[in-house]
Amino acid sequence: MTLEELQQLEGRYAMPTYARSPVEFVRGEGTRLWDAEGREYLDFFAGLSVHNAGHCHPRIVAAIAEQAGRLGGVSNLYYSEPGLRLAERLSESSLGGKVFMCNSGLEANECAIKLARKRAHGRGIDEPEIVVLDGAFHGRSLGTLAATPRLAREDLFGPLPEGFVAVARDDPDALRDAVCARTAAVMIEPIQGEAGVFPIAEEVLAAARSACDEAGALLVFDEIQTGMGRTGSLWAYEQLAVRPDVMTAAKALGGGLPVGACVAAPDVEDVFEPGDHGSTFAGAPVAAAAGLATLDVIDDPELLRRARELGARFSSSLGELGDVAEVRGRGLMVGATLAEGLDAKEVAGSALEAGLVINVPGRGMLRFLPPLVIGDDDVDAAVNVMRDVLS
Ligand code: PLP
Repeated sequence: MTLEELQQLEGRYAMPTYARSPVEFVRGEGTRLWDAEGREYLDFFAGLSVHNAGHCHPRIVAAIAEQAGRLGGVSNLYYSEPGLRLAERLSESSLGGKVFMCNSGLEANECAIKLARKRAHGRGIDEPEIVVLDGAFHGRSLGTLAATPRLAREDLFGPLPEGFVAVARDDPDALRDAVCARTAAVMIEPIQGEAGVFPIAEEVLAAARSACDEAGALLVFDEIQTGMGRTGSLWAYEQLAVRPDVMTAAKALGGGLPVGACVAAPDVEDVFEPGDHGSTFAGAPVAAAAGLATLDVIDDPELLRRARELGARFSSSLGELGDVAEVRGRGLMVGATLAEGLDAKEVAGSALEAGLVINVPGRGMLRFLPPLVIGDDDVDAAVNVMRDVLS
């Protein structure tokens, strides 16, 4: 099928929710993608931080095939090992409490919101509030949309759930002021990804932690994009002075299959009772086997060290290019703002034509999220394409 035929199919049968770039990818391996004409691309987007272990990692492919050939699923009304082992692995590698497995990022965040609200009701709070930051992205369900200030359009999708309060992302005092006796949780991405890779300042995170402690509220970190090694540690909070009470993960967790998780610290791990929450596919064996194999690949000190090293190298080389006004991020989660007047979509389009896949999170901004298995040569190749495209 040609690209034009695919576009016709899309126009006729797919709801128009995406603005796609004009390329059909048909194969991936490690850091590389190939299009339908056999052209090779260097992938600095990794399916939006999903293929952190690289495309079609043999260990993940084998785990999926093995489990798919043995048992696809039995529902959560019976026992099966992979989902519970993945919960164990996530808990032991992060907050140490119980885990709710699910299928996507927004579901992980919905779980965190429900957990925080139920806990608040248990503390006598009738109308619990969740404090979020301007610029945040927590998902597109009604609940997580209400937690995503820039997309929470009452005029389009209202009535949206109430009980969300947004404050500036760079103002510790405003955050402290917003947390009150009604606050059930403060929900933060340690680095805002969809906004264009904006790390949240340590003072804001510290203010959130102390305000939550004083109010008895939960600090929830959305690590859906920052987690799974993206910033050079398995979870971004490991490089910060602040530890959350609840953490959500998804994206790279399933190595390409849809897996999400909400992890609690031990003191808030038993908020739910049977019937409070659930999902048909959650923790199903094939997806969980993929998650376990992905953690085998990514939870590796040497890989994580390299992600920090290569990220620093890429960021500093990018910052030296003319027409790059600012570079932000940590590890291999890198964002850049272009010089005034440059069209980021045009720049990303030219990079794609030159064989480099990058992303445009917003006007004038670029985002780079390569697989963590890139090498020095890949960093050099990406910088060279960016140099050519920008000059
Ligand atoms: N939270 C963050 C920080 C994200 O980046 C995303 C997706 O980009 C989500 C939540 C929503 O995840 P999903 O698209 O899997 O629902």
